[in-house]
Amino acid sequence: MSNEKPQTKKENNVIDLSLNRCKAEGCKKKPSKADFCEEHYEWFKAGLITKDGSLAKDFDKKHQQWVARHSIKKVA
Ligand SMILES: [Zn+2]
Repeated sequence: MSNEKPQTKKENNVIDLSLNRCKAEGCKKKPSKADFCEEHYEWFKAGLITKDGSLAKDFDKKHQQWVARHSIKKVA
């Protein structure tokens, strides 16, 4: 007989916070559109992230273009 503790699976109290959070990785903002916050919804529209919130394959390139495009506005 071993004295192993019985493995109870009590995960009912774990609330899925992702339901009320932007899908983008590491983002904790509340979603405003299509499960993304406003910023990441723009990213999603621009193809920087997929609808699941993961980064696009060529994210780095796209992100640079996106930043460049959006930083022009600040300069003006
Ligand atoms: Zn976000």
